[in-house]
Amino acid sequence: MTTDMRGLYVHIPFCVRKCRYCDFCSGTPTDDAIDRYIDSLEAECRLYYKDARPSVDTVFFGGGTPSILSKEQFSRVYRIIESTFDLSCVSELTVEVNPGTVTREKAELYRRLGINRISIGLQSIHENELKMLGRIHSYSDFLSTYRLFSELGFENISVDLMYGIPEQTKDSFRQTLRSVIALSPEHISAYGLIVEPGTPFFEMRESLPLPNEDTERDMYDLACAMLAEAGYSHYEISNYARPGAECKHNLKYWRCEEYIGIGAAAHSYYLGTRLENSCDVPNYKRVQSIDISFEDAAYEYAMMRLRLREGICLSEYRERFGVDFILGKEKILSEYERMGLLVLEDDRLCLSEEGFYLSNSVLVSIL
Ligand code: SF4
Repeated sequence: MTTDMRGLYVHIPFCVRKCRYCDFCSGTPTDDAIDRYIDSLEAECRLYYKDARPSVDTVFFGGGTPSILSKEQFSRVYRIIESTFDLSCVSELTVEVNPGTVTREKAELYRRLGINRISIGLQSIHENELKMLGRIHSYSDFLSTYRLFSELGFENISVDLMYGIPEQTKDSFRQTLRSVIALSPEHISAYGLIVEPGTPFFEMRESLPLPNEDTERDMYDLACAMLAEAGYSHYEISNYARPGAECKHNLKYWRCEEYIGIGAAAHSYYLGTRLENSCDVPNYKRVQSIDISFEDAAYEYAMMRLRLREGICLSEYRERFGVDFILGKEKILSEYERMGLLVLEDDRLCLSEEGFYLSNSVLVSIL
């Protein structure tokens, strides 16, 4: 579905220090790198001027660590965005922050600018696990950041957690979940750690004290059970929300709706075209516009939609791609249904909770 409204993602590729598991386009800023990067953002935004201020209804400042920007730098980025895009219909404005980089002045600025959703990277409440990950903050830094945003009236806060961390146990993860649930944020993300090539963790992979597969599976089950009991719905493989607090911006990616990505390594799906930027900071470039085949678009659509609990609407799929999703897959789909990995109901096909956990292998065999 293509609508006039789209999401806007702004990538801020700077962090105080690189975490040991991170393969995102991010690094430690040197000298005037941030200001030069903002110049590049401004130059990229000029490419959109010809389009008479495209309207966006969600904005997401992600990273990296957007909260590393000073008040002045963040205000400048915001002014650039505001003068390029029509923000009058924006209903969700998110900033990703990391504890240890937020001051009261910055948080007040976010509030004044109309930011209404804060996503805080915590990962764990345990100092040994945070240290192992290479995070810059302590649990108490997180609590101060969380309280600061709550005091200032931010009502939509999301907390990022991680499981499968070296040295993590089922009990330690339970404590992390319990402590975060006690704060009652609107939204919680819980990602399984992936040891990605090119990261320090990858170099250390033979000696990393990773929890074994069974323990990691137990941790996933624990997250599902504890978060469900606390009233969070498991609406995407790694995301849980109070009713109505699903991340509107990220839903656009999973529903294959349009979005504009600004900044290093950002992707866009704009006016039916896919665009990609390089990860050269501060002077990134628009490197590619990607043509994808009809088959690839159908594959991507199914892949993304099945990440969501709402799954694929079969009639919508037929309307969009002119073919029946089920056709030719009846056998494997009914087998997975019998195994409790897939749910096929009326006009909808989705993964079960068990299917979410095994999504990589399930998706590979049905798509
Ligand atoms: S804070 Fe996030 S983006 Fe920055 S290095 Fe750590 S994981 Fe990567």
